[in-house]
Amino acid sequence: MAKAVNSFAAVQEEIRIAVKQLNLDTDVYEMLKEPKRSLSVMIPVRMDDGTTRVFSGYRVQHNDALGPAKGGMRFHPDVSLDDVKALSTWMTFKCAVVGIPYGGAKGGVICEPKSLSPAELERLSRAYVRATSPILGPDQDIPAPDVNTNAQVMSWMMDEYSAIAGHNAFGMITGKPLIIGGSLGRTEATARGVVFILEETLRTLGRTIEGISVAIQGFGNVGSHAAKILYDKNVKIIALSDVKGGIFQTKGLNPYKVSEHQALTGSVVNYPGAKTISNAELLELSCDVLIPAALENQITASNAPRIQAQVIIEAANGPTTREADRILESRGILVVPDILANAGGVTVSYFEWVQNNMGFYWSEEEVNRRLGEIMVQAFHRVHLHMTKEQTSMRAAAYLLAVKRVAEAMQIRGWVSGKSTRQDKVKVTAR
Ligand code: GLU
Repeated sequence: MAKAVNSFAAVQEEIRIAVKQLNLDTDVYEMLKEPKRSLSVMIPVRMDDGTTRVFSGYRVQHNDALGPAKGGMRFHPDVSLDDVKALSTWMTFKCAVVGIPYGGAKGGVICEPKSLSPAELERLSRAYVRATSPILGPDQDIPAPDVNTNAQVMSWMMDEYSAIAGHNAFGMITGKPLIIGGSLGRTEATARGVVFILEETLRTLGRTIEGISVAIQGFGNVGSHAAKILYDKNVKIIALSDVKGGIFQTKGLNPYKVSEHQALTGSVVNYPGAKTISNAELLELSCDVLIPAALENQITASNAPRIQAQVIIEAANGPTTREADRILESRGILVVPDILANAGGVTVSYFEWVQNNMGFYWSEEEVNRRLGEIMVQAFHRVHLHMTKEQTSMRAAAYLLAVKRVAEAMQIRGWVSGKSTRQDKVKVTAR
């Protein structure tokens, strides 16, 4: 069912509405509705048994008016060009909403990394870079980790790109290990950003974080770190899940212990003392805050009427469909949108790139302090705009982000931008 929703069509609609509401010319919509550049590659990889397998991969640069295109690399069997286009588009507006000098990009390879040996994964990562290197680079397009990729994959990619360039190019990719130009705080950055956003959200609702109950879907890099940071702040984590299923405990779970269990058994499921639930059931639990931290299109028109959380913080990209958004809004559930809520990762990626460019590295306190400043300021800009425009938080975030990108495109001479005639504003193309 999840795949029936086209995330790319959904984000195009978000852009269309924002362009119209901002009274911008149709050329702004024409530039933003499709990525500026999409590259599809076939990647031959020698497997351990001597055979060759050809993988399909993509790198999509949605927009680079504000700076080099930026965004993660996803290795997943369900990757499609449309998904990568949607993910790259979200990156453009994510960077714009927090005000970092980047455009948006995303990459993906159709593969099941768990079925590849470490050596095969290394050859695939290097071959992907060889295939896409003409459009990558520290001033052009900077990849980073995303679903099923990590610091090791970034290291191989950086090494391959450096071999092609003939010099170390640390700034061509972020999310690297510390020893080769990574930044302190990058691994936990998306989760830390999510927590900053949750704290600010609760503050505006006159509540504090202590003692609230939270359910988190997904126990990967974002979900597991968010759970641990929240647990350390005395938040009750009532449910957690991974691809294999979920666990529920009314008195609260200890995510550090769940992590140990997952490392030992390969899943959070069967954690001693917890009730086994499905990923779908997790979303409908009674709790204060729901944090989807897995994949797209999890909250849909069919389960939105049964969501019981008062606040949803979108740690994943695109977890809520447009239909679900409308249902949640009518039910008074506050949805803090992905392009704001999960921007902490790319923000610290930006810090990593700045440190690579300077060759001067910051302390973890400095990274976290700057991250906090950016996230809190962005939250209040969006929240203020939401109140002013009497709209949803997602619509407010898109209004601010589209305006920013449009302004850069206009001043660069890519678009005329501001419409002078009301009748020019009608955006019909889809
Ligand atoms: N993959 C992350 C995201 O979706 C991080 C991207 C980056 O750091 O460039 O935001």
